[in-house]
Amino acid sequence: MKEQIFIGGAWPYANNKLHIGHLAALLPGDFIARYFRQKGAEVLYVSGSDCHGTPITVSAKAQNLSPMEVAQKYDALFNQAFASLDFSYDLYTATMTDYHKTHVQQFIKKIYEHGYIYEKEEDELFCENCNKFISDREIKGICPVCGSETNGDQCDHCLTELSPDMIVNPCCKLCGNAAVKKKNKHLYFALHKFSKGIQKLLDSHKNSWRQTTINETSKYLKQGLKDRALTRQIDWGVELPFDGFKDKRMYVWFDALMGYLTAGERYCEEHGKDFWNFITDKNTKCFYILGKDNIVFHTIILPGILQALNPQIQQPDMIIASEYVNLGGTKMSKSKGNLVTVEELLENFDSDSIRYFFMYNNPEKKDTSFSVNDFVDIHNKHLVGGYGNFVNRNLSFLLKRFGGELPKIQIDQNVQKYVQSAYKTIGELIERGENRAAVEEIFNFIKYCNKYYDESAPWTLYETNKAEFDRVTSNCLYLISNLANISSPLMPKAAAKVKNMLGVKEEKWGEVNYDPSIVLKDVNILFNRVKLDEVKL
Ligand SMILES: [Zn+2]
Ligand SMILES: [Zn+2]
Repeated sequence: MKEQIFIGGAWPYANNKLHIGHLAALLPGDFIARYFRQKGAEVLYVSGSDCHGTPITVSAKAQNLSPMEVAQKYDALFNQAFASLDFSYDLYTATMTDYHKTHVQQFIKKIYEHGYIYEKEEDELFCENCNKFISDREIKGICPVCGSETNGDQCDHCLTELSPDMIVNPCCKLCGNAAVKKKNKHLYFALHKFSKGIQKLLDSHKNSWRQTTINETSKYLKQGLKDRALTRQIDWGVELPFDGFKDKRMYVWFDALMGYLTAGERYCEEHGKDFWNFITDKNTKCFYILGKDNIVFHTIILPGILQALNPQIQQPDMIIASEYVNLGGTKMSKSKGNLVTVEELLENFDSDSIRYFFMYNNPEKKDTSFSVNDFVDIHNKHLVGGYGNFVNRNLSFLLKRFGGELPKIQIDQNVQKYVQSAYKTIGELIERGENRAAVEEIFNFIKYCNKYYDESAPWTLYETNKAEFDRVTSNCLYLISNLANISSPLMPKAAAKVKNMLGVKEEKWGEVNYDPSIVLKDVNILFNRVKLDEVKL
C-alpha cells in the first residue's frame, strides 16, 4: 500500500508581505512534500491565505480600502512569492473563497449538533466614542505578564495568549479612548471537553515533537483548557449559520484552522478523490508546518476541532514548528520596519539558493540570525564552489575534450555504497522532522563528490590512461546524477537542469544513473557567483 501523507502549511495572514521569518517556517513543508512524492507516497499538501479577522479590518480602514481589497492584494503577492520559490502546494487557496465559507458553515453545524458549541453572555470591551464593541487587535493595552504594550489577543513580546479582560488599561486602538465593559452574547467552543484526548496526543509525541512545541503545549494543558469564544463582533469573516448572530462573524482562528480541511476537500473534489476516506484513514500521517507563535493552535485547538467534528479524522502527527529568524541580533517586526521580505530576496538571489540557505540555517531548535554576508558566503561556498563546481568541472571537460560523449557505466562499489546510505540517512532525517540535519547531509554529499574528484584527479588521466579516466568519470557522472536527485526536494530547479543534461528520467528516492547514450551539447551553469557589493538589501 502507498504511504499516505497529509501536509498542512500554516496559512499566512493576508495583511503584510511575506518575510524571511514566514519563509523559514514554511519551507520545510515543501521540502517534506517533495521528498515524500519522490518516494512514491500519496501526498496532499495544502495551504492558503488567512483573510479574516480584525487586523485586516484595521489596515483596510487605515488604507481606505475594503477588507476584501486588502486580503486580495496580499493573497496575490503570496501566490506570486510561493510560485517564484517553487512551492509545490497541491492547492493554495484563501479563506475568503465561497467554497471555504460554505464548508466551514457545514462543519460548525455538525460540531453544534455534536454538543460542543453553546451560547453565553459575557462582559466585553466597548468603546463609547466609536459606539461599538472592540476586540483583538482593536484593543491596545498593557500585557499583564510582561508589561509590554500589547494587542488584545496575544502578546507579541512574551507570546502569552490573552483575552481582553486580562489586558491592563485597555483602550480603543481606533480612537484612543479608554474602553468600558458591556454585556454581549457569543457562541463558545467547549474545548475543555477534549483535555484528555489532547493530553494523550502530547504524551504520545514526547519523542517526536520539538522541545518548544512540547513546552508550549504542556503549559496550556497545565493551566487547564478554557472554552473559546467562536464569535466576534465584527462584520468581516464567515457568517454564522445560526439565528441571533447575524451581527457577528466567526472568530478567525476557527475558520482558518478549518482551512486545512476545506482545502483538502476541495482539492480532492476537483481531482476525483475522496478526502474523507484519506483523512480518516489510520495509515494517513499528518504533518503541520508552522512558526512557534502558532503552536497551541495546532497542538490544542486544531486537535479539539477535529475531535469535535469527527473523531476518526487523523490527528496531527508531526508538528514542524520553527523558531524565529532575527536580523543581525535584533528581532524583526512590522512595527520596527526592519522586515526583509521574500520579494526583496528574490530580486537578489535565485530560488534554489534561497531555499538552500533557509533550510541549511533553519530555525529548528533555536532562533537563527540572517545576514546578507552569511547568505552570500554560503551561496558561493556550498553552491557555486561545491555543487556547481563539481558538475561544471566534469561536464565542461567532457564537452571540451570528448565532444560531450559520456563513458559507459562502471561504478565502484564503495561509491555506490556511500550513495545508497545517503538516501537512507537523509530520508530518515526528513521523516523525523530533522530537516536541518538532512540538509547538512546533502552538503556532506557535495563535499564527498568534490573529494572523490580531487583525489582521483581525472584531468591527469585522460591522455595517459583513458580506461582509468573513463572509470573515474563514470563514477563522477553517477555522483552528479545522484547529487541532483537527492537534493531535488531542496533545490528543484538545479536538479531538473542536471537530470535533463544527463538523461536521468527516473523519479524516485534512491539510486539513479546517467544515460551513457546521451551526448552533451552544452553545459548549463547551475549557480552564478554573487558579489557582496552587488546585493541590494
Ligand atoms: Zn507579554
Ligand atoms: Zn473608539
